[in-house]
Amino acid sequence: MPGDVVVPRNTRSILEKYGLQPKKSLGQNFLIDRNIRDKIIDAAAITQDDVVLEIGPGVGTLTEELARRAARVTAVELDGGLAQVLRDRLPSERVWVVEGDVLALEPPALVGEVSPKQRIKIVANLPYYITSPIIFHFLEWKRWEMMVIMVQEEVGERLVAGPGTKAYGALSVAVALHARAEVLFKVSSRVFWPRPQVGSAVVRLVPRDDFGVDPKECSPLVRAAFGQRRKTLANALSAAPWNPLSKEETEKVLLSARIDPVRRGESLTPEEFVRLWMEFQRVGKIQDVAGRNGD
Ligand code: SAM
Repeated sequence: MPGDVVVPRNTRSILEKYGLQPKKSLGQNFLIDRNIRDKIIDAAAITQDDVVLEIGPGVGTLTEELARRAARVTAVELDGGLAQVLRDRLPSERVWVVEGDVLALEPPALVGEVSPKQRIKIVANLPYYITSPIIFHFLEWKRWEMMVIMVQEEVGERLVAGPGTKAYGALSVAVALHARAEVLFKVSSRVFWPRPQVGSAVVRLVPRDDFGVDPKECSPLVRAAFGQRRKTLANALSAAPWNPLSKEETEKVLLSARIDPVRRGESLTPEEFVRLWMEFQRVGKIQDVAGRNGD
């Protein structure tokens, strides 16, 4: 296997050899620390039963070690120059390099055929400019068993935030409805080349399925509740375009979901959002029936 690329000198000299420069516009801050690389991969507990999907492999710092431990790795890289580096340097029998925008590619096509005993894991040092779209892209595809991602520290806080905190928002609820998330450790900007302006954090997500609703369905409610953070729920929700109910009717729905209408969205737990959404649906159906009966 080609030599390690985790030494800064190597990363730089590989880019030079290919006539490449780090592109800020693509979030290219390369990991150059072997210890952090290993901590990320250890956190994903990669074994020979794992099929790994890596987003934004860069010059292959994580990819190389992932390929040593996993059954196989799909590495999706948008930068054509870096995709060429990967094709040249990594063993093609274990690493499938896909050149393209990860957001434009369907997750199932990226992993291919997976045997019943194999597990899908997503591991990435994400391009920070599209962190949330990438997370959403994969959250709704429940086939993965674990996601271990490096994100901007502040985004990491939002991913795991609970009610009543400043970081708690629509992203926190959406993630909580799909997965259990935890920040595993923080990472200094010193371990990247070039150094980013922000600190980073490694977050692990494990899917959950115990809320009994499709989290996507609740998202209009969650967005409306956080869209007007300073308003009471009765005000914020009665102004939402999807809600045909008056403010008084909306208050009744809140009360029957056992939620005080003067509370603000930022105080609701994910469970309360689900309960409230179910109540809206129930009342919606009653209205439907009443409407038809009245015809
Ligand atoms: N994994 C490498 C590492 O740890 O050194 C590179 C991480 S760097 C933070 C993010 C990588 O994502 C870059 O290689 C960048 O070219 C790639 N990237 C940016 N946007 C992308 C997209 N839409 N689809 C796939 N890869 C993308």
